[in-house]
Amino acid sequence: MNQNQQTQTQKPKKKVDLDRTDIPKQPPHIRRRNFNEVALGYTADLAVKEAKRCLECKRPFCVSGCPVEINIPGFVSRIAGEDFPGAIRVLKEKNCLPAVCGRVCPQEEQCEVKCILNKKGAPVAIGRLERFAADWEAAQDHIEMPEIPPSTGKKVVVVGSGPAGITVAGDLILLGHEVTMYEALHAPGGVLVYGIPEFRLPKRIVSRELNYLQDLGVNLVPNYVVGKIKKLDQILADNDAVFIGTGAGLPWFMNVSGENLNGVYSANEYLTRMNLMGGFKYPRASTPIKRHKNVATVGGGNVAMDCARTAARLGAKNSYIVYRRSQKELPARLEEFENAEEEGVIFHFLTLPVKLIGDENGWLKELECLRMELGEPDKSGRRRPIPIEGSEFRLPMDACIVAIGNSPNPIIPETTPDLETGKWGNIEADEATGKTSKERVWAGGDIVTGAATVILAMGAGRIAARSMHKYLIGEESWTCSEE
Ligand code: FAD
Repeated sequence: MNQNQQTQTQKPKKKVDLDRTDIPKQPPHIRRRNFNEVALGYTADLAVKEAKRCLECKRPFCVSGCPVEINIPGFVSRIAGEDFPGAIRVLKEKNCLPAVCGRVCPQEEQCEVKCILNKKGAPVAIGRLERFAADWEAAQDHIEMPEIPPSTGKKVVVVGSGPAGITVAGDLILLGHEVTMYEALHAPGGVLVYGIPEFRLPKRIVSRELNYLQDLGVNLVPNYVVGKIKKLDQILADNDAVFIGTGAGLPWFMNVSGENLNGVYSANEYLTRMNLMGGFKYPRASTPIKRHKNVATVGGGNVAMDCARTAARLGAKNSYIVYRRSQKELPARLEEFENAEEEGVIFHFLTLPVKLIGDENGWLKELECLRMELGEPDKSGRRRPIPIEGSEFRLPMDACIVAIGNSPNPIIPETTPDLETGKWGNIEADEATGKTSKERVWAGGDIVTGAATVILAMGAGRIAARSMHKYLIGEESWTCSEE
């Protein structure tokens, strides 16, 4: 950026601390032994101090980095001025899950990376401030309830209660439509509840948001698998429009021998047993989980970090991450990698498991691995891992968690033949509207994009809700071509 541009975009001469305000955290040796939230959040004083670092740029690049275009300087300046109700009001104009996004969004790649302060020091801690404003509101006796307009008489079904479905339900109920949300599991919230562990995203925060939706009038129906209990066409017969936000919960495996041994889990199974079934509370919980000594998690994303950190908390003597590329290519958020390292997770980089070896009772005993080296970048832009011939070695291990990715949930595509799908089993939907190939059906979130992020799922939900509303009030006909 040249000097001329700089003067156009920021107020001059504000002296600012180039370091961001630290967020208090549980010390690693203590948090490794419990499931409580790691980061404790800003106090009001710390939040105001951090918010005052914002330069209030005239042309705020941070907003363009946010997939739902939150008025970031608007809410940050209100925190700086100690107007906390004002801050949460600004946030909620664009984001119905600020307490969630403040905790798990990859701000370092989105809004914060665009912050002008990033050039000389640390960017404003936008995520931490978002979390502060949401938590401040939750701590008040009274949550502001918006006015619900008169009923339009239109009935909408949302399938799936993850961030995409929550956004659609929240937006459409506030526009006067009747909303029913079907969820396959007994607890709503999608990955926010069954995937992301308590120590990163406490369940009470997601429950709070879902209670709020129900207070607004959304009819939430758990234990209801669309495609099995009723097919999509049957649901369409009784409703005006349907949104599908069923996520990407179908785990990938490595396809190596020994993957059926006892002690081998998919990340989804491991995390669902822990988060949804409360396995760590055994014997108080009825679904136990075995406490393994040496646990290898294969993969390098947020899901892998969550598994390895969970295994450490469950008492594993050694919790390893086995990743085929180097640290530089790790797809996990830097913060989560650092937290995992601080908690004693051991990293085996440039390592690929090729065989899982069991004992005479069918339990995992060892991982046979190959060492890797990095070649030229592949389609993803990351350097391709190449096996080093003859480099086989074995790691003694009694559990292995496979966290290498997920595909879109297949039930609805499989039971709805006229719904167009892509080569990964994803539902095809128009990017600008969320419309699918099937009349009166919209889709968004991981079921369309494959495994992505909370904020992208919410963004897709918002786009679909806007299009659905236009259709429901007769402002727009179904066909994409008339837009
Ligand atoms: P989901 O959250 O998957 O919700 C879909 C819901 O639909 C589920 O509740 C499912 O049970 C339900 N469903 C499926 N089929 C049916 C059916 N037939 N009938 C009824 N209901 C059905 N993203 C981040 O931004 N930051 C992170 O730190 C992060 N960490 C992650 C950690 C883990 C362990 C995982 C697994 C993912 C993580 N993600 C993270 C990704 C993020 O959570 C997802 O991208 C996001 O939740 C997708 O939202 P969604 O609404 O599309 O689907």
